[in-house]
Amino acid sequence: MNIRKIICAVLLVFAVFGSLVSCQGENPVGENPKTKARSFYDFFDTVSAIMSYKGDSEAEFSANADAVGALLGEYHKLFDIYHEYSGINNIRTVNKNAGIAPVEVDPRLIDFLVYAKDVYTLTEGKTNIAMGSVLRLWHDAREYGMENPDKATLPDSAALSEAKLHTDIDDIIIDRENSTVYLADGKMSLDVGAIGKGYAVERAAELLISRGVSSYVLNVGGNIRAIGEKPGGEGWLTGITNPDKASGESFACKVRIKNTSLVTSGDYERYYTVDGVKYHHIIDPVSNMPAAYFSSVSVFTLDSGLADALSTALFCMSYEDGARIVSAIDGVEVIWITRSGEIKKTDGIALE
Ligand code: ADP
Ligand code: MG
Repeated sequence: MNIRKIICAVLLVFAVFGSLVSCQGENPVGENPKTKARSFYDFFDTVSAIMSYKGDSEAEFSANADAVGALLGEYHKLFDIYHEYSGINNIRTVNKNAGIAPVEVDPRLIDFLVYAKDVYTLTEGKTNIAMGSVLRLWHDAREYGMENPDKATLPDSAALSEAKLHTDIDDIIIDRENSTVYLADGKMSLDVGAIGKGYAVERAAELLISRGVSSYVLNVGGNIRAIGEKPGGEGWLTGITNPDKASGESFACKVRIKNTSLVTSGDYERYYTVDGVKYHHIIDPVSNMPAAYFSSVSVFTLDSGLADALSTALFCMSYEDGARIVSAIDGVEVIWITRSGEIKKTDGIALE
């Protein structure tokens, strides 16, 4: 875990007793003695937190946090592309068997992959979990470039073009009856980084709601899911990170949230530098390069999986295309921050 994540972890713990709902935001809940929180460090290579504002007992909160921790842990294993775990077949197992054989997987993974295909359609191909081959090249170049800044290079462009030939979402063959998944192209692989966290957060929110919970906040590495509202009916005040780190202003703007998710995709979190130019981690499938439309895109909608999927997609398309896609979906609001720092937003958002 990197330094930024550790700092976020500290902020998350501080959150509950003071001012922050997340490292993305601020919350003037004050010193509410009824507020409880637990952080997790083992899921999705990021820091997660569950926070209760409802005044439930220590035992109730603890049981809820245990249940959420167990669920996130299971999805973490199912979605892992780097490790396999004994007793389960996960995304890595599926990738290893590309072009070789169908893999029997947990029905939850089947549900997720069906959802991922719907996301591809909804986002007109911009959020594509079948881009693993391309994303791998960028990932490896970034990791090397971060460790060896003076030797950093871009991925080879011929290799990128070759990899792109193996990103066809229709080559993910799902057999729900037999609970198997098969990658029909032996050179393709899945990378669920763009939607996995948000999807898992929504499953955790469902679980909490089924346990009768309200006035809780989940935050998994900045994927925020507000269940209900603060006692008294107010929303939680949340800051949208200012992509311009040199400005000295932490937040570009602030918004109150209740009963919604908030997910941001930005160019300022994971990047490396080649010849003075920054290259971040969200890749436009059209150009095969880091998307160059915005510095960040924040999506507000109830379903955290949808918020995650859309934030990546809208980051990879023009404002006009994004606004068009979003206007066709109920209950989605967006804040776009352009590379020159201009804030654009949908009409349903009131800035504080
Ligand atoms: P974050 O992981 O920072 O929360 P995102 O939700 O936007 O941000 O997901 C970015 C991750 O998704 C990348 O690290 C990569 O693994 C993957 N990814 C990047 N570009 C795309 C894309 N166009 N479609 C699908 N996955 C992508
Ligand atoms: Mg996303």
